[in-house]
Amino acid sequence: MFSMLYVKRKALESALQGAKETYPDEFIGLLRGEDKEKDTFLTELIIAPLSSYDEDSSSYSPYFIPSNTMEKATFHSHPSPGPAKPSRADRHFFARFGCFHFIASYPFGLGDVNAFDEKGKQIEFAIVD
Ligand SMILES: [Zn+2]
Repeated sequence: MFSMLYVKRKALESALQGAKETYPDEFIGLLRGEDKEKDTFLTELIIAPLSSYDEDSSSYSPYFIPSNTMEKATFHSHPSPGPAKPSRADRHFFARFGCFHFIASYPFGLGDVNAFDEKGKQIEFAIVD
């Protein structure tokens, strides 16, 4: 069990910038990080080269499934205004991927982001510099 999820401000801001640039389509990215004791620190945004950007969340590319354990979290955007909540397709995807998941809703500010576990349950996270 993890105790706290931390995400670097720069990584999260990069993801939100991606969401803004991709709007009104969905932006999808991965966050790389590491575990320190029971905490997880996400430090870097990775954009999967073959991920599909599509308003339909059910169309995740199989290439998007990460190949190593450094990838700890997913991030995607919803073009509709908040609060950010996982769709049914998102929940399926979360369960398959495991780990942590961020969803940002329009207009993609730091306050428009929610984090979820693999069951789609909202979890707390902290932004660190
Ligand atoms: Zn979604």
